Amino acid sequence: MAPPQSPGAVSEAASPSSSSAATASTSTAPAAPTTDLPPIVKNDPARTGFDPQTKWWVNYFKILTGQMTPEGQFHYRESRTTANEAADCKRCEDWRDFALQHSPTVRFLREKVETLNGRLDKDNVICRRCPARLTEDGEIHRQSGGFSPDHGILICANEVRDRSHLEDTLAHEMVHAWDHLRWKMDWTGDKDLKHAACTEIAYAKEP
Ligand SMILES: [Zn+2]
Repeated sequence: MAPPQSPGAVSEAASPSSSSAATASTSTAPAAPTTDLPPIVKNDPARTGFDPQTKWWVNYFKILTGQMTPEGQFHYRESRTTANEAADCKRCEDWRDFALQHSPTVRFLREKVETLNGRLDKDNVICRRCPARLTEDGEIHRQSGGFSPDHGILICANEVRDRSHLEDTLAHEMVHAWDHLRWKMDWTGDKDLKHAACTEIAYAKEP
């Protein structure tokens, strides 16, 4: 679940490498607010070959034998991340706790945030499953994390691949938090939204 979009909220598109199950291309731009997306595509077993009522391995067998469309494979993947949600979140929280304690980058950014009277810890760095969205234009929209001034940092438990990927995602969102605190004085609607868009473009250009 992503935090509601409020002024200054940002969400990060997950990297393309995490979407190999379907041939539809993955958006690499920061995820747009849901309201701007074309309609979401819902599964129909007759059309896609993916039947959520049957055992996961039957569906997996269908993928291996070419009896499931790319759209069906998208819905299959979503059903698996839902089934694995608890384990993914536990794993994400372990990596988060490790990063908060031991990562030099994360510790550095935490101190920077604290000098601006901010606080980032287990209570506002949260691991959740982030549903992917398949829209009618064939695009798959994934999210790896997000920052909202009201809710803190979101880490998408089903998208983080390993400890270092979590560290990168967390550090990126911490920069947004720091940025937000630094510019809080200028927190006046229009001006701030322009600034948020600016910084997001700058991050997107990072190698
Ligand atoms: Zn960002």
